[in-house]
Amino acid sequence: MNRSPNFGARRDGLRPELVVLHYTAMESSAAAQRALCDPAREVSAHYLVSESGEVLPLVDEDMRAWHAGAGEWAGRGDVNSRSIGIELANTGDAPFAARQMAALMALLPGILDRWSIPPQGVIAHSDMAPGRKIDPGPRFDWHRLARAGLSVWPAPRDGAGLPADERRFRRDAEAFGYPRDLPLDLLLATVRLRFRPRHAGPLDSQDMSVMADLAARFAAHEGLTPRRERP
Ligand SMILES: [Zn+2]
Repeated sequence: MNRSPNFGARRDGLRPELVVLHYTAMESSAAAQRALCDPAREVSAHYLVSESGEVLPLVDEDMRAWHAGAGEWAGRGDVNSRSIGIELANTGDAPFAARQMAALMALLPGILDRWSIPPQGVIAHSDMAPGRKIDPGPRFDWHRLARAGLSVWPAPRDGAGLPADERRFRRDAEAFGYPRDLPLDLLLATVRLRFRPRHAGPLDSQDMSVMADLAARFAAHEGLTPRRERP
């Protein structure tokens, strides 16, 4: 089967305002395609990008695919109704192939254009489901996507180091879109997974500057569509 039967209508008239990137955590693209098209699995994505850069459309973009699960972004749940899901075939511990990245970077501009999604709307599964999901993981090259205008990357100014301050870090992270009321350790690990993937240790001034810059330039509540449209 080439298309997935695992989808429904987007709820409450919601439209895509996010693109959620995943890795499949399976041994091959073919195995992932079988799983994403298996009615018994009840999972899917709009696109699967193979290791060799083949883009397989599995669910129409205007439909609600089943990739995000429980979680939220910018204070809004039902991410499946609000997003396009893209699965990258990857075992979870291997680099992403150059041809696969090139295919993703060729796929994204059309999606962002069709649905008027800003670059800050391209997020990781781990961003919206902290503690539950870690994909697309520390090997994914977010900086490269951002340089092409297909996601965002922090650019803290030199000398802008801020003292470690849990309340401010949390406020900035939530303004950017991260879920509210996470334990600090989990929030910090989630932010670093995407923006400082090889960093460990307690909250530091670089974490502060990264999050302050992202919050200042890309506060989620400005770029995304309202929570609910008035009838
Ligand atoms: Zn995922």
